[in-house]
Amino acid sequence: MNKGWNFSAGQSMLPSEVINQISNDVFDFNSSGMSILEINHRSDDFANIIYEAEKNLMHLLDLPDHYEILFMQGGASVANAMIPMNISYNSVANFILSGYWSNKSKNEASKYCQVHIAADSFSNNINNYYFPKIENWKVSNNPSYLHICSNETITGLEFVNWNDYSQKKISFVIDATSNFLSRKFNMNNVGILFAGCQKNIGISGLTVIIINKNLLNRHPLKTCPTVYNFHNMFLKKSIVNTPPIFAIYVAGLIFKWLLKNGGIEKFESNNIKKSEIFYKYLDSTKFYINYVEHKYRSRMNVTFNLVDETKNKKFFDNASDALLYNLKGHRNLGGFRASIYNAMPIDGIHALINFMKDFECRYG
Ligand code: PMP
Repeated sequence: MNKGWNFSAGQSMLPSEVINQISNDVFDFNSSGMSILEINHRSDDFANIIYEAEKNLMHLLDLPDHYEILFMQGGASVANAMIPMNISYNSVANFILSGYWSNKSKNEASKYCQVHIAADSFSNNINNYYFPKIENWKVSNNPSYLHICSNETITGLEFVNWNDYSQKKISFVIDATSNFLSRKFNMNNVGILFAGCQKNIGISGLTVIIINKNLLNRHPLKTCPTVYNFHNMFLKKSIVNTPPIFAIYVAGLIFKWLLKNGGIEKFESNNIKKSEIFYKYLDSTKFYINYVEHKYRSRMNVTFNLVDETKNKKFFDNASDALLYNLKGHRNLGGFRASIYNAMPIDGIHALINFMKDFECRYG
């Protein structure tokens, strides 16, 4: 295989150590004489996989005891429905709209509860992407929660300072799908932090839900499916029905890989370095442009455009020839996006920048 650099937003690049381990375990898991793909969810092998995954994630995040970790199915999109069903029945959920994903979360929640838009920078986000200023947030009285997307994957817009908001009694719900495990989060006042797994936690189909225990006894909507009921999932230790065993197993390998390689602090400093090098380069040229306000620039998804968009196709084709894959921007936005999650080493960033410099020399 011609191994290039995979800049996909999700599913995305995995560490080669993890892929090697998976390929062994697909043939024989833990000398059991069975493939990891054949493991039963009530077996001791799986009990050990999920126990270790949870323990290692707790350790990685240094999570206080009042949080529980749930491994749920359906991806982050399903979390957008599960959360209002479980904790906002009969009350108003508030949303900060900062992009496509927070808007999607709001639309989904509106099927299950009342919603209120506390601030909005999404509606007029055209070639200038920013997060609504905290002093302009207008949160309704006694909201069930305030939803924030900590990293808008499509525009490459990151915001993690929710605790600067002065109204301290609020319960934040954080969609951290695309920056989970990339940095340390301030968990004060966080009711739920959730993430689909296909970026920094492995492969798709699994959602990690970190939930404050005090939210587990809210009354869910009567029609809430059994497998989406948080309290039920908590009581059954995330095994109500057959869980996504393979995705949980891969997440477990990723947690071990992160711990072995220095934990969140080390990855955060790598991510700062990687993104700074990239943005510094983007700012040094007039051939490419990034539209995100500097203080909200994402460390995980770097978006850029060619100032002369007629060269887009040539750029994309040449990049693929240079083994730089999946750089196309989201279909709603166009342009380009390099997703540089934890598994992307700094060599991948240098390879991309060298290619971009060369492309500018040839076509600029
Ligand atoms: N939230 C964010 C921030 C995302 O980036 C995505 C997927 N790219 C989702 C939610 C939806 O995730 P899923 O496809 O797992 O439903």
